[in-house]
Amino acid sequence: MESMKTALVWFRKDLRIRFNEALEFCALNNLRVIPVYISDDSNSPYSPVQLSSFRQHFHHESLEELNYRIVKLGGSGLVYKEGLAEEHIPAICRKYQIEIVLFATEPGWYEQLQEAALKKTLIKAGIAYKLFYHNYIFRPESLPFNIGQTPRVFTEFRKLVEPCLTVEVPETDSQNVIFATHDESTYALSSAEGEKNLNFKGGETAAAKRLNYYLFESRRIETYKETRNGLLGTDYSSGLSPWLANGCLSVKETLLNIKQYEKEVLANESTYWLVFELLWREYFRWIMAEHGRLLFLPEGLKGNRNRSKIKDRDLERWITAQTGEPFIDAAMTELNRTGFLSNRARQNVASFLVHDLNQNWIEGARYFEHLLVDFDVSSNYGNWAYIAGVGNDPRPNRRFNPVKQAGMYDPEQKYVRYWLK
Ligand SMILES: Cc1cc2nc3c(=O)[nH]c(=O)nc-3n(C[C@H](O)[C@H](O)[C@H](O)COP(=O)(O)OP(=O)(O)OC[C@H]3O[C@@H](n4cnc5c(N)ncnc54)[C@H](O)[C@@H]3O)c2cc1C
Repeated sequence: MESMKTALVWFRKDLRIRFNEALEFCALNNLRVIPVYISDDSNSPYSPVQLSSFRQHFHHESLEELNYRIVKLGGSGLVYKEGLAEEHIPAICRKYQIEIVLFATEPGWYEQLQEAALKKTLIKAGIAYKLFYHNYIFRPESLPFNIGQTPRVFTEFRKLVEPCLTVEVPETDSQNVIFATHDESTYALSSAEGEKNLNFKGGETAAAKRLNYYLFESRRIETYKETRNGLLGTDYSSGLSPWLANGCLSVKETLLNIKQYEKEVLANESTYWLVFELLWREYFRWIMAEHGRLLFLPEGLKGNRNRSKIKDRDLERWITAQTGEPFIDAAMTELNRTGFLSNRARQNVASFLVHDLNQNWIEGARYFEHLLVDFDVSSNYGNWAYIAGVGNDPRPNRRFNPVKQAGMYDPEQKYVRYWLK
């Protein structure tokens, strides 16, 4: 045991033990682990948006559970620091004679800057590092194209990747990993304050429960294609996004469960459609990995078109659910009160802000970033750019008519009445 070497695993958007390739690597290579989480403090250049209480609660619960699991597996807990990864990680490496630093790469622009800064300091200090793709379905080398040539249209991407869509069961259970003892302070903050979304509890346990419920227990997956445009309730869609976004749930484990369901219970259009949606998630990740900063600019992937708009009262009316359009105001009320919104409602409020109120889509994307309990940088900015017509949509104008949409998806006005009563 004493001769074992030590690795530092930097947890980021992968707040889980299961299906964690960095931990599997350590288990297979006989490395004991110092687990580290670094919270950007308010002055950090990497966290420009203030988190809503919905996001804070979920995040807090996820970290708490991760810490608990590490202790249960024999470690001293999740080392918790505030500040810059590129400062804390080399310091911890020096103190504990770390052999190698391991982390999952993320496609967001700030996350990329953070990774670049860390790599630079590690190289300078002569410390090895290795990055993993365990929040993706594919790795760069398993994609049937070079990252620089990711198709600009989703359908082309899907047709290329579907034939290579195989997910392997991990070589070893990451719970076999050995966590090191240390004397650093661990994650033990008192609970976040403010409102929380009671449908989503952060952490791996709740994630596994929801996955099992949506598939095997309730068999709701079998009607996903018909119900996925729903607006009210909790079971019209999988509801997995908060756990996927925070990494409490692995996308590969989700796919393996769907495949198992298809093999043992039933395969139909709905089970296929859930995989299809996970491919959208994957697509936006590779698009962001390729285009980085462009997806945070008003002109998006479309170059120099001047789409900057001046913020005015219409943005405020949208945020405060006072546009006068009942379907939009109901959706914005739901978003403000819960930190969550169905896909159908997201599409409508985004379209309304951009095409009816003529506002800069970045403002809307940033408001979602602040609030959404399932905020995921590539899915959020990718979808917003798509609706604004500056992303990956081959059609130039993706305006949703809110009156028509309400007629189709809320014909009895149950949704509008529920939120605007
Ligand atoms: C303007 C806008 C902003 C969005 N912002 C986010 C975001 O910040 N985080 C986020 O996870 N999703 C985002 N989405 C995508 C989608 O609305 C949510 O993933 C979905 O509503 C979450 O509910 P669910 O888990 O029940 O989804 P399900 O319908 O059950 O889908 C299963 C999973 O597939 C993925 N998925 C489904 N639809 C999409 C999509 N259109 N794009 C990318 N991935 C998808 C998600 O991981 C989701 O959890 C956004 C969509 C729009 C139109």
